[in-house]
Amino acid sequence: QQLHIARRLDTAIEKQQFELYFQPKMHLKSQTINSCECLIRWFDDGKFVSPAQFIPIAEHSGFILPLGEWILDSAFAQAKKWHQQNLNIRLAINISARQFTQQDFVQSIKQRLAHFNVPAHLIELEITETAIMDDEEFGISVLQALSALGISLSIDDFGTGYSSLGYLQRFPVNKLKIDQSFVRNMATDTRDQALVLSICQLAKNLGLDIIAEGVEEHAQLEKLKEYNCDLIQGYLLSRPIPANEFEAFLAKGVSF
Ligand code: C2E
Ligand code: CA
Ligand code: CA
Repeated sequence: QQLHIARRLDTAIEKQQFELYFQPKMHLKSQTINSCECLIRWFDDGKFVSPAQFIPIAEHSGFILPLGEWILDSAFAQAKKWHQQNLNIRLAINISARQFTQQDFVQSIKQRLAHFNVPAHLIELEITETAIMDDEEFGISVLQALSALGISLSIDDFGTGYSSLGYLQRFPVNKLKIDQSFVRNMATDTRDQALVLSICQLAKNLGLDIIAEGVEEHAQLEKLKEYNCDLIQGYLLSRPIPANEFEAFLAKGVSF
């Protein structure tokens, strides 16, 4: 199965089988949507294959590097388009460990900012703790260089990687993204509630923004409001959707 996927992936870019979808993030206090996460979709001869399935294979085979370039180009092209339409939307792009540790990664972001003429504040990168901690000193230097470009940085899947908190003060990041495994049962499980509350407080004390992903129910939303969580993302608001649907979603507005 894995070999089959790896082989099919090889030609998927030329066959234009990839598409970026966008999932809105809502700022809770202002009830506004000014950012989204870019999530890749692969339709292999029309058949949907989940990124949870093919991204690990692409990482293993090295295909994640050309794919990562495609993702960055598509996300920047969309950022440019929305910026030109005066939609103030920041796009968060997932960066895999293999991509993050490439020697020319920072340069490739810098070049795209110039080439697509997109203001840096409209770009955010979601990076996992594991990608950064692979080589800690190098990881921190990359974060510093990215941060100096003026783009936003967030730690993805927070709480599932190295749970050593010491590193947090040394990472020049803006945001922590609480992993959905903690959010899933937080309406009913008091231990998950304690965990999410603690992460929210930790982020506040360190001056970081906090976002909860995988929010599906109103009960979770209410708890997150109580905990002063800054942003939410999840099916409750919207599934990841194509660019044109995202524009329609923005035009319609949301209310909770
Ligand atoms: P992730 O970065 O943690 O992305 C969040 C995942 O949660 C997405 O799955 C999203 O569709 C899903 N999700 C969002 N809201 C909800 C919700 O309310 N309930 C539930 N159950 N799930 C929700 P998706 O799109 O299948 O992506 C899976 C993983 O694949 C991502 O996890 C990420 O690690 C990777 N991935 C996706 N797109 C890209 C990409 O463009 N580049 C890279 N490097 N990795 C990507
Ligand atoms: Ca992510
Ligand atoms: Ca995540």
